[in-house]
Amino acid sequence: MNSAKRRSYRGRLAPSPTGYLHLGHARTFWTAQERARARDGALILRNEDLDRARCRPEFVSAMMEDLRWFGFDWQEGPDGGGPFAPYNQSERIQLYRGALDKLCADGLLYPCTCSRKDIQQAVVAPHADDDELIYPGTCRQNRKPEIAHRKFSWRFRVSDGETISFTDGNFGPQQFVAGKDFGDFVVWRHDDVPAYQLACVVDDAAMQITEVVRGADLLVSTARQILLYRALGLKPPEFFHCPLMPDEIGRRLAKRHDALSLRTLRTSGKAPESLRSKCF
Ligand code: GLU
Repeated sequence: MNSAKRRSYRGRLAPSPTGYLHLGHARTFWTAQERARARDGALILRNEDLDRARCRPEFVSAMMEDLRWFGFDWQEGPDGGGPFAPYNQSERIQLYRGALDKLCADGLLYPCTCSRKDIQQAVVAPHADDDELIYPGTCRQNRKPEIAHRKFSWRFRVSDGETISFTDGNFGPQQFVAGKDFGDFVVWRHDDVPAYQLACVVDDAAMQITEVVRGADLLVSTARQILLYRALGLKPPEFFHCPLMPDEIGRRLAKRHDALSLRTLRTSGKAPESLRSKCF
């Protein structure tokens, strides 16, 4: 680890250990690494292991082994430490809780008791491009005492009609309209786990990430996250989204595509160099 030198570009790889990483992850991460190297910057590995039900310790070790095998090299991470440790999200809950408290105190959140099914039933036209359904606002008027004995999540209230604009380093100018392209979103889940949007913003800011490189499926999440940066008084990083790698029938690659997992490619004797030259 090179701690003596202060690097102004800071990028990150932020995988979730819910399965083996696949070639699509590797391609996006490779772009992240190349961009950090081109600027003589630092690359940080952050283990996004908040989802207790889906994350498994064996996937954490597999993730690090497979990334190293493929040719990745990070300067800070769960294995080597670094100035912004810990790098496992499950060990950073207090930071997320602090951000939750601030958003709550500022009146930007409301407790929501809706299940995914409730939302599905209330939503007329779910958006195909994004995993999160547009929340119809059922619980916007909730007052805490009424729900004190029920499980609830905390939702961030968006200003319907507000346009969130940013310039993506790869795709250029982007615009998303709150209430239309995405709705009020969960920042703290009903099972008492911080949601991805909040944890990601808190960590990218705390770890002084200057550019976030990730898949194009997260463009809409970037708009949500820009609202959180603003609400928390934090400066957003630059963003660079990468096209997703499709499978042989055009679907987006997912962890279910075992044939293209780095683990399978590695055990079947494939060489990372040839995968990079053929697939990237
Ligand atoms: N853990 C998230 C994922 O694997 C990270 C997304 C991001 O890079 O912000 O999708």
